[in-house]
Amino acid sequence: MLFSSDSILKDERLLVKYVSSQYYLNMKEILQLIQRLAVVAQAENRRLAGSAGLQPVHIDVLRYLARCNRYSNTPAAIGQFLSSTKGTVSQSIKVLDREGLISKLSDAKDGRVIRLRLLKKGRDLLECVDEGSAIQGAVEYVGADEHLALANSLAALLRRAQRLNESKTFGVCNTCRFFTHLSDGGFQCGITNELLTVADSMQICVEHENEAIKT
Ligand code: SF4
Repeated sequence: MLFSSDSILKDERLLVKYVSSQYYLNMKEILQLIQRLAVVAQAENRRLAGSAGLQPVHIDVLRYLARCNRYSNTPAAIGQFLSSTKGTVSQSIKVLDREGLISKLSDAKDGRVIRLRLLKKGRDLLECVDEGSAIQGAVEYVGADEHLALANSLAALLRRAQRLNESKTFGVCNTCRFFTHLSDGGFQCGITNELLTVADSMQICVEHENEAIKT
């Protein structure tokens, strides 16, 4: 619907319609930008994975293992993080293990649980692949002073979308509602009661939960 600026200012109902239409346009525009960015990211992932002789999902698994904590390095957690089937995750793990990019070991407390670890070769490959990322270059181009605002907006969008889709947050440990500051300056997980290092506090976790937020 088209409005002339004079008629908008004279008629309150028109003004409400105008503001609503602008709001709707902005909403659609934001949605399209996110969808377009996702398409560009997927195409780039295919290109970068192909240059390393791998599939995009293999790169996704390596990226996840580079960021996850010790409670989250299982095939099941990878499946949840990537919304992938058990079969896809298990095939990817086989390939990455065969290529010497990750290692598999049984959990010390429960031998039935498999733990995965990113090896140096995997970390080096990831660094190489990410160096060729045009999206990373684009984020750098945006400028350091805008990074915080951009990160906050994207994080807020992601939190809300995850909440509405009832998906796990996989957030950074120090933003979790169970993350506890101890009186001696250390950190502790409120679920496992285990101590956490500064490095642990910056990793992502399958058990992460945001603080309750008002709707
Ligand atoms: S505090 Fe939360 S995010 Fe951190 S290890 Fe515990 S459950 Fe995971």
